[in-house]
Amino acid sequence: MKNKLIKTVCVMLVATILFSVATVGNAFAKDFPDAAIDTQVGNANGLEKEDGLWVFYNNEEIDYDFVGMAKNQYNWWYVENGTINFEYTGISENKYGSWYMKDGKLDLTVTGMVKGDDGWVYVKNGKFDSTYTGMAKNDYGWWYINNGKLDREYTGLSSNQYGVWFIKDGKLDYSYIGMTKHEGKWYYISNGTIDRSFEGMAKNQYNWWYIKDGCIDYSFKGLAKNEYGWWYINNGCIDRKYKGIARNKYGLWYVSNGTIDYKYKGTCTNEMGTYNISNGKATRKKMKLCSSWKYSYALDIPQIADTTSSWNLILVNRNFVLPDGYINNIKLSYATSNTSERLDSRVAPYYQRMYNDAFFQGVYLTPCSGYRSYNLQKNNFENKISYLVSCGYSKKDATIKASTEILPPGTSEHNAGLAMDITSISQSFESSAAFRWLVKNAHNYGFILRYPKDKQSITNIIYEPWHWRFVGVEAATEMKETGQCLEEYLGVVR
Ligand SMILES: [Zn+2]
Repeated sequence: MKNKLIKTVCVMLVATILFSVATVGNAFAKDFPDAAIDTQVGNANGLEKEDGLWVFYNNEEIDYDFVGMAKNQYNWWYVENGTINFEYTGISENKYGSWYMKDGKLDLTVTGMVKGDDGWVYVKNGKFDSTYTGMAKNDYGWWYINNGKLDREYTGLSSNQYGVWFIKDGKLDYSYIGMTKHEGKWYYISNGTIDRSFEGMAKNQYNWWYIKDGCIDYSFKGLAKNEYGWWYINNGCIDRKYKGIARNKYGLWYVSNGTIDYKYKGTCTNEMGTYNISNGKATRKKMKLCSSWKYSYALDIPQIADTTSSWNLILVNRNFVLPDGYINNIKLSYATSNTSERLDSRVAPYYQRMYNDAFFQGVYLTPCSGYRSYNLQKNNFENKISYLVSCGYSKKDATIKASTEILPPGTSEHNAGLAMDITSISQSFESSAAFRWLVKNAHNYGFILRYPKDKQSITNIIYEPWHWRFVGVEAATEMKETGQCLEEYLGVVR
């Protein structure tokens, strides 16, 4: 026992010289209370200083086989071959967990990735953290940690304080361009992160997809382009079974097996009408000319508007006159509950809803002029002609001039019950809150600004900010997104 007492004194002297007890001791006691320094040096199992060397005793015998952590009054140490191995850096265990040992000593200052015998692991204040899942960094880059261990199997997204990143085989991959799935959702990645600016096609193992705002846009329907050509996208991906007409910014095209068929020649009918196809390009088939056109002496003879396809997409203008009988057989409803203006009864509920929604936002979409009967249109038009004749114009010139101000009967959208002049027939409507509201929202109710300023050469109608035409929500939304007017949308203009 006397021998042991001498040893204790020696140990304490050496300790003051060799170890910075104060710093280690504080961190030790604070962060690791369970393993507080055992002041009883020389207990049966533990480290003792002997002839300047720390030796590990087990039952009063030096244990040369023990490998692992052992403590003395200063810290926990990594023991091997009966003594502290000051060369060891890695992970070791005691009854409190797994710990990061640096130069043979427990290091409670480290939080992050450290390398153990079985690879990289995550430690928090020196202790292996089996609950940590996420990104961590070492000298070689950012990695994905799964339950405390580097997971080289992981490919997907993870985030750190700088953003969301693409991890490939466990490592942040800045070079990857393509798609990846995360929590059931597919994302488009470039430069290592979700690319929200990209819009177009990208591929995963299943198909090519249409990407918008960094994700698959499952609502996209239409043509999109990749390096192999134009493809028909439906529900966000290529629909290789599709056969029919589809649009891109260059017009309407014939698609078969999911891609534009540039060799096809023939006709194709869809809900918009019948189309002639040549070199893949679709143009609307000519309709019958109106044989009984009353103003044939002065104006171009129009075709008869196609009323056999989708009623909401009927094209009515100077070149397309509604067939006899159509106008007088339209079922009409009041556009709102407090107006005498009417619309096609299939359109009126959309107008009412739009009116209500605007109203609750403090905007008044007062119906000004909706459906007009054939006779009303005819009287307006012919009164204009009579007035101009009375001013000295010939009948022919008066008719031509009248048609620039009032559409001939059967050629107005008001005759079809599909359009509403809103609030006031005045260019100043453009600067009203109602107009701004309509420009922003009307497509959600199926209405479009029918005669835009920049489409006058196509519509042959002056800019009419007050005239709003119903085409249905889907078409209105597409037209707003592509910036097309109805003639362009229907493929009538080439
Ligand atoms: Zn109008």
